[in-house]
Amino acid sequence: MSSDEASRSDFIRHIVRADLAAGKNGGAVVTRFPPEPNGHPHIGHAKSICLNFGLAAELGGRCHLRFDDTNPAAEEDEYVRAFQEDVRWLGFDWGEHLYFASDYFERLYGFAVELIEGGLAFVCDLSSQEILERRGTLTEPGVPSPYRDRPVAENLDLFARMRAGEFEPGARVLRAKLDMASPILPNRDPVLYRILREPPHHRTGRDWCIYPLYDFAHCLSDAVEGVTHSICTLEFVDHRPLYDWILDNVDAPCHPQQIEFGGLNLTHTVLSKRVLRRLVEEGRVAGWDDPRLPTIAGLRRRGYTPASIRSFCDGIGVAKRDATIELARLEFAIREDLNENAPRVMGVLRPLKVVLENYPEDREEELEAVNNPQDPAAGTRKLPFGRELWIEQDDFLEDPPRKFFRLAPGREVRLRYAYLITCREAVKDPATGEIVELRCTYDPETRGGDAPDGRKVKGTLHWVSARHALLAEVRLYERLFTRENPMDLAPGEEVTDLLNPESLEIVTEARVEPGLAEARPGDRFQLERLGYFCVDPDSRSGELVLNRTVTLRDTWAKLARQAGGG
Ligand code: ATP
Ligand code: MG
Repeated sequence: MSSDEASRSDFIRHIVRADLAAGKNGGAVVTRFPPEPNGHPHIGHAKSICLNFGLAAELGGRCHLRFDDTNPAAEEDEYVRAFQEDVRWLGFDWGEHLYFASDYFERLYGFAVELIEGGLAFVCDLSSQEILERRGTLTEPGVPSPYRDRPVAENLDLFARMRAGEFEPGARVLRAKLDMASPILPNRDPVLYRILREPPHHRTGRDWCIYPLYDFAHCLSDAVEGVTHSICTLEFVDHRPLYDWILDNVDAPCHPQQIEFGGLNLTHTVLSKRVLRRLVEEGRVAGWDDPRLPTIAGLRRRGYTPASIRSFCDGIGVAKRDATIELARLEFAIREDLNENAPRVMGVLRPLKVVLENYPEDREEELEAVNNPQDPAAGTRKLPFGRELWIEQDDFLEDPPRKFFRLAPGREVRLRYAYLITCREAVKDPATGEIVELRCTYDPETRGGDAPDGRKVKGTLHWVSARHALLAEVRLYERLFTRENPMDLAPGEEVTDLLNPESLEIVTEARVEPGLAEARPGDRFQLERLGYFCVDPDSRSGELVLNRTVTLRDTWAKLARQAGGG
């Protein structure tokens, strides 16, 4: 066990370790991650993946990947592939334990017949609307269905004919005969099977026209696979009695224990496949892998590493209550990883030309730059330097305030790894008054950035050589939603009303150091002073496209503090 693993301790690991110590389940630990393939996985799924796969690996057990594909209306193979790809990318492996609930349709049908034979399920002819109307409320009991006391033989016959396709969708359902007065709503004679004809199922095609509901399929799929601990989020607390009731009333191979934990919520983020799918389908974002989305594909494209996502999930822990985590914590995790591991390079987002008047026109030299101050093994590289350079537009002010230590007329600053330079004149476009070029001089005695006479300068600027720099498109991201909890909607409001119109800014004229000509999609680095970036798959040879993963500091926290917000 690594020290990391030893330090992971939460109430679920506590339960599982205690079960192991007591010899429960014959010493086996079997968990499962059970996504419905109706969208791409998101960071909330990552939390569940880390928990289920992580716990099984730590305790010598195994974790199944099982697709809960019981609703053909929303499910597609594309999503099955996405879940597999992303679970692997996060660093987990289900080995040979890949399953589909649809593989169990025949067995599940058999379990339903068992319930009917035991007088514990009945075919109900009420419409879904009528069922809903008779369900009652938290304070009032429900009204029993008039079909509740159908004889077993009639139920068996009708259920077989439902399967055979004799009835239209909505005409009949199979329901558990449980307790219409139960204080627990899911126990009020829940629907177990419904008739659906369109679309065909992504795996079983038109073999079936009746489909089990989640509550029926889930517990039995767990039992069929020999799952020992069925870990889910808190909204299933009320479904646990039904989970247990079904397993107690059929001849199930085993009886897994359902354990609920608080699912992940992130500020300024929506974690719901249904809403994410809407954003994608309405073209509000560029696709499931839009770097603004909290999908694993989006985070990957944004530049997140698997290690940073695992570290985030470990760090927030597993609790019995729901919690909303600050988006800044996710950013902290990737910043920490990239600070250690990302090479440093220089680039300028909004270039301003600097001409060194006393640097010979035909001269060029190479300066040595450190690749990663956090990692001496990363070594150094050569940066070309010449008479014309690009610096950042906001590193110059004609009339600077007192605490501005960057460039201004008459001021001296350091160019990182290069020389001290002094600004002599700002050249303006006569028509617009815009500053188009700075005329500067450099001190040849300060090669490397230090003055032999010991004089100090306060500002150090990043730069690139104008002759050598590469043009790059840079995509800068902000949070996708303006509201802290975008699911907290006022009447008449839609989640799409809360999209941040400034969530994407594209800078087309950035300049970066020439070494990035070798960079490939997915490569990550720090642009000094600007943040961590990665190469987007949209890059073609000679056309570099970069995504900003995250800024160097938590600018939001800083702004909130300045505003007195905490
Ligand atoms: P969504 O609303 O995004 O579709 P879901 O819970 O309906 O989420 P499933 O495909 O059923 O999606 O989820 C697979 C597993 O991932 C479930 O065990 C579920 O509990 C877990 N999961 C989903 N969202 C979260 C979350 N935000 N935090 C922790 N676990 C989650
Ligand atoms: Mg779901």
